[in-house]
Amino acid sequence: MKKSKSGESQRRVLGFQILTTVAFIIIIFVSILVVVFNSLSKSSSVLKKKVSSLISTIDVQMEINIDNYLKTIENTSTLVFSTEPVYNDVVAYQYDPVKDKYDEYDKIQIEDAISNKLIELSLMENYCDFAVVYSDEHTVGKISKGTTSVYENKLYDVMKDVVTRQRTNDGWFSSNDDEFVRLYYAKRLNDDAILITSFYVTELESIFARSENMSDMTIRLVDSSNTMIYSSESEEIGNTLSLDIADLIQSQDSAIVTNNSYIVSVGTCGDDWKIICSIPTSVVLAENQETRRYTMLVGFFAILLSVLAVAIITKIMSRPVRNIVDNLNIKVDTDLLTGIYNKMTYQEKCEELLTQETDKNHSLWIIDIDNFKKVNDTMGHAVGDQVIVGVAHILKNAFLENGFAGRIGGDEFSVMITLPDKIKPCTENYEKYILSYYETVKRDIEAFGKTIGYNVTLSVGTSCEKISSAELFKLADKAVYYSKNNGKNQLTFQHKMQ
Ligand code: GH3
Ligand code: MG
Repeated sequence: MKKSKSGESQRRVLGFQILTTVAFIIIIFVSILVVVFNSLSKSSSVLKKKVSSLISTIDVQMEINIDNYLKTIENTSTLVFSTEPVYNDVVAYQYDPVKDKYDEYDKIQIEDAISNKLIELSLMENYCDFAVVYSDEHTVGKISKGTTSVYENKLYDVMKDVVTRQRTNDGWFSSNDDEFVRLYYAKRLNDDAILITSFYVTELESIFARSENMSDMTIRLVDSSNTMIYSSESEEIGNTLSLDIADLIQSQDSAIVTNNSYIVSVGTCGDDWKIICSIPTSVVLAENQETRRYTMLVGFFAILLSVLAVAIITKIMSRPVRNIVDNLNIKVDTDLLTGIYNKMTYQEKCEELLTQETDKNHSLWIIDIDNFKKVNDTMGHAVGDQVIVGVAHILKNAFLENGFAGRIGGDEFSVMITLPDKIKPCTENYEKYILSYYETVKRDIEAFGKTIGYNVTLSVGTSCEKISSAELFKLADKAVYYSKNNGKNQLTFQHKMQ
């Protein structure tokens, strides 16, 4: 089925409107997304940098604090190296009851004196142990029950391996064997004596205290094997550092590293212990997420508004185009002189009707004005035009409800009529029905002729077979020819022709 030209143009204008609207929406949507994501990713990276530098500062401060704390303990221990004799000419750090032979009385006196000196030195400190262990495993000074239960008869053996720093002859060790994690400091006094100091890591709590606004930050102190000596997540203490953070910092001594999950600052204190401050990226960017949600919401409403605005604008913009197209369509579809369909459109309409109304019957008329040349010749071309217009109007108005008319030649017209269901084509009833219309048209034409002072008559031929529109034209043409040849001013039914 052929689409009507005007319908096609309307659809094109609508298509243009939809296309423009969609294009606008895409442009606005993409612009909003670009602006939002650009600004958010910038503010995210600024935020990350700020937090990174903040936790790195905290980390450095803690390194200093830890180092100071450990140094205090190391310094207290060096006081044992006083050259002042503790008993007779015996100096505490030189006392070696394994190598040198002392009588039992002197031994007791010396060890009492050393013990007193140790107590005196550690008086103000909260140490669990502050004692000297000799290679024969006997101890002088304060040894806690915890240490005794874990390292009974092997304390010297364990501590001699803790003394790893060549230059200072000492070392640190974290022990997790007890119920609590404990830090040991061991310093060699002589070939057979090692000074032991220990304290619970909970003592470090005050060093690792966080400010209120950094409560989401986790602080960990790990030894060289990544065992957590201390963690602000206390249940982690003694465990190995989680793989995701260990992978992130790898073997770096001092760095700020970030990935999608964490911002991590690592710093080294003592010899090989690390302080690791970490904060989940999601916590840092939480505010940004909120801003993102808010911006997306605003963006969504902006899009809604712009869709509306664009729809209205394109409608307004396309109105003149639509009017021009409509006018052009009218010009293309109609005969300019009479305003009824021109030949091409009329034929299209006839074809369209026959394909649409397959269950109906139709009658096609061809009408030619008789002796029209004479009108032109005697009364002038303008009157001739007037006659053409008059006939066109009469035909159009006669079939307003059941058909339509077209101008198919200079003084030649056609009408296509849809017959009522009860009128069967090419029957007597049909002839009566057609003739009643013919009489009306004839009467109106006569009346019109009187108004211009010329007796206008028409020759008409009709066809009514249920065939194609081209065939109907051919048959009606034969019938009108018949009317002309038989004296004009008459109607010929094609189905009654010999
Ligand atoms: P017949 O009775 O056999 O139809 O004779 P006729 O004089 O009507 O001759 P015919 O139909 O062959 O000629 C139609 C004439 O109509 C020819 C042409 O000069 C004239 N004509 C065609 N178009 C127009 C028009 O738009 N205006 C006017 N005034 N005349 C036209
Ligand atoms: Mg004619």
